[in-house]
Amino acid sequence: MNEKATYIVMLGPPGAGKGTQAKVLAEKLGLVHVSSGDLFRENLSNETELGKLAASYMNKGELVPDDVTIAMVKDRLSRPDCALGAVLDGFPRTPAQAQALNGILAEMNGRVDLVPFISVPNEVLVERLGGRWMSHSGRVYHAINNPPKVKWFDDIDGTPLYQREDDKPETVLHRINVYYEQTSPLIEYYRAAGSLVEIDGTRPIELVTDEIMKVVK
Ligand code: ADP
Ligand code: ADP
Repeated sequence: MNEKATYIVMLGPPGAGKGTQAKVLAEKLGLVHVSSGDLFRENLSNETELGKLAASYMNKGELVPDDVTIAMVKDRLSRPDCALGAVLDGFPRTPAQAQALNGILAEMNGRVDLVPFISVPNEVLVERLGGRWMSHSGRVYHAINNPPKVKWFDDIDGTPLYQREDDKPETVLHRINVYYEQTSPLIEYYRAAGSLVEIDGTRPIELVTDEIMKVVK
């Protein structure tokens, strides 16, 4: 049993900076970054059955069904590298997923300790997602706000960067709507549970990190 494990859930709309902050936090706190979107994209590039199923939803900007998503994240959290805890990014995204997460963590003697809710207005989200460049290992850049040292290439391993299929403007607007309809109820859910902390996500990346680190401590 891992009594001291810490679980942080990053909450916020697509493009708020969940992945960017989750990576830094996980590194600073010695926790594992668990991104449901990255897990789906890994399945996609490995051409697994789960990847093919997920792609049919992801490309339309819809959520992948709860049962497969929950099973995938449960499997990830049960691996030994998560023994000290995890920074969850992109999960939970529905009330059913939040309930399931409570059950999964309870089995591991843990709970959701903190939920930084990164709040950013819609027009900024559209601009951020439109300029998002990804590395195949999941590092996130922005054409203007956080450019790589060499245009279109990853700083660390030099591999080419790509733009996500679902970051096209029409899919982006739909994903933002899906967030308001299906995910935003989690704000009140975690507020009621006493774990929500609202973070102003419009400031530069480092200042957002500082604000989250203040509440973590
Ligand atoms: P973003 O970081 O831009 O919000 P993600 O990488 O988290 O996007 O997710 C990309 C897509 O993967 C989502 O639009 C959805 O199709 C699928 N997805 C990721 N996480 C979940 C989840 N928890 N539940 C259902 N679908 C998910
Ligand atoms: P999410 O995981 O919430 O969808 P990301 O972390 O992928 O969001 O960030 C979306 C885009 O916005 C990326 O291109 C990222 O480089 C950029 N970004 C993230 N945080 C900030 C910030 N505080 N200021 C400006 N740009 C940001």
